[in-house]
Amino acid sequence: MFYQDTAAAIATSSKDGSISVIRVSGDRSCEIVSSIFFDKHMNPVTLSQCRTHTIRYGYICEKENDIIDEVLVLIMKGPKSYTAEDVIEIQCHGGYMICQMILELLVRRGARIADPGEFTKRAFLNGRIDLSQAESVMELIQAKSDIAVKNSMSQLRGKIKKKIEELRKVILEDLSFLEAALDDPEHITLDNFSETIRRHTQQLKEELEHLLDNSQNGRLIKEGIRTAIVGKPNVGKSSFLNCILRDDRAIVTDIPGTTRDTLEEEIKIGSTLFRFIDTAGIRETEDVLENLGIDKTKKAIESADFVICLIDMSRELEEEDFYVLEQAKNHPGIILCNKSDLPARVTMEQLPEYENKKVISFCARTGEGLEQFEEYIHTLFLSDKIRYNDEIYITNARQKALLIEALESIRQLWNSVEAGMPEDLYSIDLMNAYETLGKMIGETVEDDIVDKIFKDFCMGK
Ligand code: GDP
Repeated sequence: MFYQDTAAAIATSSKDGSISVIRVSGDRSCEIVSSIFFDKHMNPVTLSQCRTHTIRYGYICEKENDIIDEVLVLIMKGPKSYTAEDVIEIQCHGGYMICQMILELLVRRGARIADPGEFTKRAFLNGRIDLSQAESVMELIQAKSDIAVKNSMSQLRGKIKKKIEELRKVILEDLSFLEAALDDPEHITLDNFSETIRRHTQQLKEELEHLLDNSQNGRLIKEGIRTAIVGKPNVGKSSFLNCILRDDRAIVTDIPGTTRDTLEEEIKIGSTLFRFIDTAGIRETEDVLENLGIDKTKKAIESADFVICLIDMSRELEEEDFYVLEQAKNHPGIILCNKSDLPARVTMEQLPEYENKKVISFCARTGEGLEQFEEYIHTLFLSDKIRYNDEIYITNARQKALLIEALESIRQLWNSVEAGMPEDLYSIDLMNAYETLGKMIGETVEDDIVDKIFKDFCMGK
């Protein structure tokens, strides 16, 4: 075991709640908690003698009859616990002071306050979970949509680990065979090996490419679909955003200070997270083109996964409208003809060139067209863009970078095989790919990287 001491931390949010949980993990957790825990008759309880995975009711006391709180104590002895060590969880009343008093008492009796993410790190170091599972714990906590939860949960259950282990197994077999044959050419022949390695390299290349392709979806799942709202000034961009942010809508967060000129809102529509970028704040000047904030509109469109082009139906189409439509022409998006409550000056026939996008009549003032709009983008992303199913969607930047690196080694190997290079040259690329993939699950990863990963975790996790 890596950690010798026993650590304790408040595992629940610091905001007021009816219950809080204090987690204690390590060899001495039973002993330490026993020293402050008394049953309803004020008798001391020896937790090490209690059955594992049971709950005891009682009091936390500084000393007999000096009660701090009425609690439930959960006993989870290792290895069947979160950290694989002996874990005791104290469920006390919610409230900052109570938790602090219990935590301080635990420290006085020999526990150390856990570092952020230390419990998950212990689980990793004790071999209960791999690094990709540990990272998914954080993603699960931070998930902002149903599919993000689903995705992190499947990673937590070891989906990435299983796939990576499969790929590494193929590499290791080739590597071992190659090394053995090079060491003992008299008994092991490399005849026909080129064909085997060719087949394996092709398969590895395809699988890694597929994982990387899916990681684009992973980004949409985790960060939300970047949706730019564009249109000339006064077309109703802010009103549209307000309309979609109607009271019954779950607004996940406001993102303050993203830029001075744009406003971002995260909104969950159906099971999907959308990140709306309102370019309404674009600076207005005398110059018509600058007035439109050409650069910003362009950038907003370029960096968006989806573009909402707003047209004011009550005014003739102008150069600025065509500019926006033109910029967004080859981008996935929708055209909303806003202000449908006013007499129309624009007809659909005026938009023939842009018909590759769905056009919806809309009214930000009354909400007409909102339902149709939401249904359209939700179905579009679920069926077409996100294609969420049982596959692996890598959402973690560290893991994605390692996938790219591993693919690079496999591509090099592929080139060597294709060019008929001598077999002894294959080992280097095979080894690189093997080690890089190992870093994804934490098998060959350096301590400082591990520390860095867990440093970003929350306290008590
Ligand atoms: P932005 O500059 O594109 O963000 O436009 P705003 O959202 O600030 O709207 C400009 C003006 O149009 C405001 O006076 C809004 O009240 C008005 N407006 C926006 N949407 C509608 C609509 O659907 N119908 C009507 N009648 N007025 C609207």
